[in-house]
Amino acid sequence: YDLEALLAIERIGGGIGVIELNNELTDVHQLQKNLIIISEEATNISNNDIGICFFSEEIQTRIIRKEAVTRELTQIANGERVDRLFLQYQPIIDLQSNQISGFEALVRLNSDSFGRIPPLEFIPIAEKTKFIIPLGYHIIHQALQFLKKLREYGYPDVAVSINISAIQLLKADFVPNFCKIVEESKVDPESIVLELTESIFASNYQEINQILRELQECGIKIAIDDFGTGYSSLARERELNVNCMKIDKAFIDKLMVLEWDKTITGDIISMGHKLGHCILAEGVEHDKQRRYLQTHGCDKIQGYLISKPLDESAAIEFLAKHPHGQEN
Ligand code: C2E
Ligand code: CA
Ligand code: CA
Repeated sequence: YDLEALLAIERIGGGIGVIELNNELTDVHQLQKNLIIISEEATNISNNDIGICFFSEEIQTRIIRKEAVTRELTQIANGERVDRLFLQYQPIIDLQSNQISGFEALVRLNSDSFGRIPPLEFIPIAEKTKFIIPLGYHIIHQALQFLKKLREYGYPDVAVSINISAIQLLKADFVPNFCKIVEESKVDPESIVLELTESIFASNYQEINQILRELQECGIKIAIDDFGTGYSSLARERELNVNCMKIDKAFIDKLMVLEWDKTITGDIISMGHKLGHCILAEGVEHDKQRRYLQTHGCDKIQGYLISKPLDESAAIEFLAKHPHGQEN
């Protein structure tokens, strides 16, 4: 612990992996392997501290899974069996017209060894390994193909939202590449929304805002995802080059537990409107939430109350059965 104090000043972290030995005979090679695994884990979990991790079957299983996912992402990034990565689409409803105004594209991984892996598990791995860049282009291509399909089926005003990681956005060639893909796909840029989490504004604020401006100049719309959870300087909010704010599900959940006059969700909506943004509420599961949002002038909602994310064909069927239209 003396060491910890010393290293903390230098902002250096470290990790100690521990394996408890019982009296059974142990395979030394396996023991060494496990020790490396658990030491790495201990180093990874600690940021600027010294982390201590005890080896367990559970940790081993988790690490094996992570390695397998990383291996599959590597293959996909190299163009092998890319079909393991696919998109589902969740409808977005315009509250005023009650029509479907768009879909959010949500990526899924069908792993050979583990079946469906949720994006919250594999996106962080893809970001860490930078595979998110090739995977991201694959996602963009698929989403634009879906948008084209919507046009072919006769839905000219339904938009598609695509989630973009900071790592993708900050690549120097992202804007020209993206605008070129849009142009080549012959889709209307006005029907494309890029979703960026609020947390990316915490660093590189100026740089990111400039990139967003360039994207908007290509006609593309920008939405701030998970609004209210990350960094957000209210002083700067007005300067942000964004079109839409997606209020995080946490604020929508609150509508079920708090007295309505105690929630600030309505205040977020009116603040967003004053800044000239369109407001979308995500994670809407109950009619009570929908009524609150409608009363407080929220523009759009998305959530299980309307529909879960759907496969491409189911999304198109969903459109056929529901009123649609209204540009995003
Ligand atoms: P997100 O962008 O905030 O997406 C919304 C998440 O909430 C989705 O989870 C969606 O399935 C889920 N959801 C929607 N409505 C409801 C609801 O009413 N109740 C509940 N409990 N959940 C709801 P999913 O698909 O697991 O995605 C998780 C996160 O993974 C996304 O959060 C996004 O940050 C990331 N992600 C998904 N697709 C992509 C992608 O193509 N690229 C990148 N970079 N990230 C992605
Ligand atoms: Ca999103
Ligand atoms: Ca979100």
